[in-house]
Amino acid sequence: MYDKDNVFAKIIRGEIPSKKIVENEYAMSFYDVNPMCEKHALVVPKGEYENILDFARRASAAEQAGFWDCFVKTADSLGVNGEFNVMANAGGEAPLFKQSVFHFHMHIIAGKKTPECEKMVKCIMCGE
Ligand code: AMP
Repeated sequence: MYDKDNVFAKIIRGEIPSKKIVENEYAMSFYDVNPMCEKHALVVPKGEYENILDFARRASAAEQAGFWDCFVKTADSLGVNGEFNVMANAGGEAPLFKQSVFHFHMHIIAGKKTPECEKMVKCIMCGE
C-alpha cells in the first residue's frame, strides 16, 4: 500500500527541501542527493503511485502527459545531449537495483560516472 510519508511525497508537499529542476501541475523533478553521475535527476508524478506499473495503469491521460512534459524539460535542462540512461526500479527485491523510495520516480542519468558508480557498474558486469 502507498505510504503517504515516503520522502518524495514529503518533497512534493514541500515538507522537506529539494533542488528542484522543473515543475508543472502533475509532476516535478529534482536532483538526486546521491548522484551516480555528474547529472542525475529524478522525475516524479505528484499523484500517489507506488511504481511505474501502478502509474502506467492508473494515472489519467493528463497526469501521464504532465509527467512526460516534465521528463523532456528535465532532460533538456540537464543538457543530456542524447547520451543518457533512464531507470525506474520497482520493488525491494528487483534484480539489479532495488527500489528504495516507494513513490514512482524515473532516474535520468548523464555525464561522467562517480567513482562509486564506476565500482558498482564493474560489480554488475562481473556478477558479484
Ligand atoms: P530508487 O532506489 O530507485 O528507489 O531510488 C531512490 C533515489 O532517491 C536514490 O537514488 C536516492 O539517492 C534518492 N533520494 C533519497 N532521498 C532523497 C532526497 N531527499 N532528495 C533527493 N533524492 C533522494
